[in-house]
Amino acid sequence: MYAAKNGHDGLTFATGLDDQARARLTMLEELRTGLSRGELVLHYQPKVLVGAALEVCGVEALVRWQHPVRGLIYPDDFLYTAESADLMRHVTAAVLDLACRQIRSWHDEGLPISVAVNLSVSNLRDPEFPAQVASLLERYDLPPSALELEVTESVLMTDADHALALLGQLRGMGIKLAVDDYGTGYSSLTYLQVLPVDDLKLDRAFVSRCTTDPRSAAIVQSTVQLAHSLGMRIIAEGVEDDATLAMLHEYGCDIAQGYGIARPQDAATTTRWLRSHQIATLAA
Ligand code: C2E
Ligand code: MG
Ligand code: MG
Ligand code: MG
Repeated sequence: MYAAKNGHDGLTFATGLDDQARARLTMLEELRTGLSRGELVLHYQPKVLVGAALEVCGVEALVRWQHPVRGLIYPDDFLYTAESADLMRHVTAAVLDLACRQIRSWHDEGLPISVAVNLSVSNLRDPEFPAQVASLLERYDLPPSALELEVTESVLMTDADHALALLGQLRGMGIKLAVDDYGTGYSSLTYLQVLPVDDLKLDRAFVSRCTTDPRSAAIVQSTVQLAHSLGMRIIAEGVEDDATLAMLHEYGCDIAQGYGIARPQDAATTTRWLRSHQIATLAA
């Protein structure tokens, strides 16, 4: 092998790259098979209205891959590879189908909950995407308000013009939209002027520090005001304790989500959790 000429270090390096490339190919192959075998599963994390009663106002669907050998794999460990190989469309299609099926069964069981699904950059580039969402809603006989779609700032900035047009279309269908991880991208206030979204999800980097760091607290407080003056609701991510929740309440934050309220759980556990909590009525 050529690298052998460079001595031991060069050889190790070349082998390392080989291993990495091979691991990636194996993962892709297994993910393709996994998709066709239905190995993707959703966990759900509740969102609550900030206030005395902690009424539930929705859940977020978070994908996991139930790998036959490696066990449960988290999204940060396979979505990047899926995206790089153009498999994200298939992942999102599978996730949306699972989510809509679950909404249908929750509604049938008297739990009128809405579910938020995370989108990726390839979804916002796909002109067929809105029609696919529409046909899913029709297949499961769901009102569009039962679905919320989350898009991160960085995804929005990748192809802003296309993204804006597509989001406008989705919102025109009556689907709720949220900006995810708000405050971590390089986006400016410019796009907030024109973005057709209902909710801003303030990233947990700010939320988790708001009781200990005055600057984070100032950012949380002023982002609440900014969102409200633009007619958007604000959702605080990563709420891990009661002190944070109390502070969010004081600042007028609308919705909270985080381990301190509920961790993401499988569908059966989420169903039990929902049954023991008050559900806020689904907004039309
Ligand atoms: P995200 O959409 O911002 O989701 C929040 C992430 O933070 C989740 O991690 C959740 O488990 C975690 N989290 C929630 N509350 C807390 C908390 O109080 N403290 C801490 N430390 N973490 C908390 P998860 O499930 O590993 O997902 C990571 C990211 O993967 C998501 O971030 C989202 O960007 C992406 N993702 C997940 N599911 C999907 C999907 O179906 N499609 C796409 N395109 N992306 C997805
Ligand atoms: Mg999200
Ligand atoms: Mg987020
Ligand atoms: Mg995130």
